[in-house]
Amino acid sequence: MLQIRHNMALKHKTTIGLGGKTPYYLCIKSARDMLEFAELESKLGIPFNILGGGSNLIIADESLCKELPFGILDIDIVEEISCRPFIADEKEMLPPLVREYLRRGHTHFTELTVSAGYKIPKLLQFCKENGLTGLEGLVGIPCRLGGTVAMNAGAYQTEISDVLSQVEIFHKNHGIIKCSRKDMELSYRQSSFFCQGKKLENPIILSASFIFPQLDKNIVKNKMEKNLLTKKNTQPIHARTAGCAFKNPINENGEKISAGLLLDKAGLKNIKVNAMQFSKIHASFLENTGDGKTKDAIELLNIAKDKVLTLFNIHLEEEVKLWK
Ligand SMILES: Cc1cc2nc3c(=O)[nH]c(=O)nc-3n(C[C@H](O)[C@H](O)[C@H](O)COP(=O)(O)OP(=O)(O)OC[C@H]3O[C@@H](n4cnc5c(N)ncnc54)[C@H](O)[C@@H]3O)c2cc1C
Repeated sequence: MLQIRHNMALKHKTTIGLGGKTPYYLCIKSARDMLEFAELESKLGIPFNILGGGSNLIIADESLCKELPFGILDIDIVEEISCRPFIADEKEMLPPLVREYLRRGHTHFTELTVSAGYKIPKLLQFCKENGLTGLEGLVGIPCRLGGTVAMNAGAYQTEISDVLSQVEIFHKNHGIIKCSRKDMELSYRQSSFFCQGKKLENPIILSASFIFPQLDKNIVKNKMEKNLLTKKNTQPIHARTAGCAFKNPINENGEKISAGLLLDKAGLKNIKVNAMQFSKIHASFLENTGDGKTKDAIELLNIAKDKVLTLFNIHLEEEVKLWK
C-alpha cells in the first residue's frame, strides 16, 4: 500500500536546495503502484507534480507560501537494466543516431530498457563498460532517467532523443501504454507523447528503451572523460544549482545563442540577492550559496531577463521548471 507523507519539506529533494512543504508526498517504487496512485489522486482532489532527481527544479518555499498547493509523486522505480542485441531494420522508425550509424555501414547495436528512477550517472557507467555511444554529453548531471527523457536533456550537440526508441507511460485515461518514436515529439528541452494521435496531458514516464551503436569501450570512455573535463572547467558542477537557468535563445537564422554569454555580457556573473547568486564560473547557473530562498532566486531570474531584454532585445525563457 502506498504511504502518504504529510508536510514533507522538498528542500533536500532538489539539487539547488530550494523547496517548501508539500501536503502530500508519495514515492512510487513499482509501475504496479500507479493504479493505486490514480485512485488516491482523485480522492485527494489536489494536483500532483512528478519528481525525478530534482535537478531542474526551483520549488516555492516559505518565502512565497506557507504550504505548496500541490502534492509530489516521486517516481523512484529502479529495476535492473534489460539489455539485448538489436538487429536494425531500416523500415523501422529508428532514433537519429542509429540511422546515421546504419548509413555508415555499422552493424553492432544494443537495445536497453531502463526504469524511470535509474540514475543517469549509473546508466553512463553501464554505457562506458559496454561501449554504448550516444549519451556521453550527459556526464556530470545528477538526474534520473524519467526526468531526463521528460526534459529531452542534452549537451554538446546531442540529446537523449538521439538514441531513444520507446517510452512506457502511465496516463490516467489510458493506464500503462507504450509510445514508439512515431508517438513522440522531442525538441529542445521538451517532450510530448501521443496516443491514437492525441497528445497525452501529464504523462508519467515509467521506463524508456534505447538503441545504442556499440563501439570500442575506450572510445566511449574517452568521450565521457573529455566532456567531463570541459564541464569541470566551464560549469560550477559541484555547487548547489539546477543546471542552466535559461534556455539558449534562437536567432533569426535559427541558430542558438548562448544564454550564458548574454548574461555574462549583461554583467550578471556573481550578482547576488541574499544567499542566491549567478555563478562566477557560468552566468546561466543560479547557485544557492547557503540558506537560499526561492523568492531571491526568482528575483534574480527576473533581473536577468529584464537586463537581457533591455540590452539585447532578447527574451530569455527559463530552462528550470518553477513550481509555485
Ligand atoms: C550540475 C547540473 C548540470 C546539468 N547539466 C545539464 C545538461 O548538460 N543538459 C541538460 O539538458 N540539463 C542539465 N541539467 C538539468 C537537469 O539535470 C536535467 O533537466 C534533467 O533532465 C532533469 O532530470 P531530473 O530527473 O532531475 O528531473 P526533475 O528535475 O526532477 O524534473 C524535471 C522535469 O521532468 C519531469 N519529470 C521528472 N520525472 C518524470 C517522470 N518519470 N515522468 C514524467 N515527467 C517527469 C518533472 O515533472 C519536471 O517537469 C543539469 C543540472 C545540474 C544540477
